Amino acid sequence: MATLTLDLPEAPRPQAAYRLAADCPRCGVPLVLRQNRQTGALFTGCSAYPGCAFTEPHDSRVQTLSTAVVQAVQRLAAQVAQAQAEARCQVAAAQAAAQRQVAAERATLERSVRQLIALAHPDRWPNTPLAHELTVALVALRETLRPGPHVAPPAEGTATAA
Ligand SMILES: [Zn+2]
Repeated sequence: MATLTLDLPEAPRPQAAYRLAADCPRCGVPLVLRQNRQTGALFTGCSAYPGCAFTEPHDSRVQTLSTAVVQAVQRLAAQVAQAQAEARCQVAAAQAAAQRQVAAERATLERSVRQLIALAHPDRWPNTPLAHELTVALVALRETLRPGPHVAPPAEGTATAA
């Protein structure tokens, strides 16, 4: 059966140091956002620490901006997950509808074959070998219309997506 898969962005995880979109003015490696363990204050530091001890006070406007970006990514991930769930529901509903339609068509065919079997019954056509042959052929046809053991009947009210 069809399975819809979408690649979801990974949920952002809290990190010890956020990489900033700027490089150290002293050594040129990327700057990171760090937190003072004692005071809890945020500051910008060099990712090459302790090789490079460059620091500068953190601009809280940058923190606000990066928090907004993280929240936007989380909202987007939630929206993608919701769209994925809705798509799965639609696929399951379409599969259930198709199974119902196949079952209905098979039932109609079986009804027609039953009527033909009754019509061709040898008792109605004594001394007619064709009636016997026709009945045998129709009974064989009816057997082919029965759902095989490999076809599970659709469970009522549940949709299985494999
Ligand atoms: Zn540096």
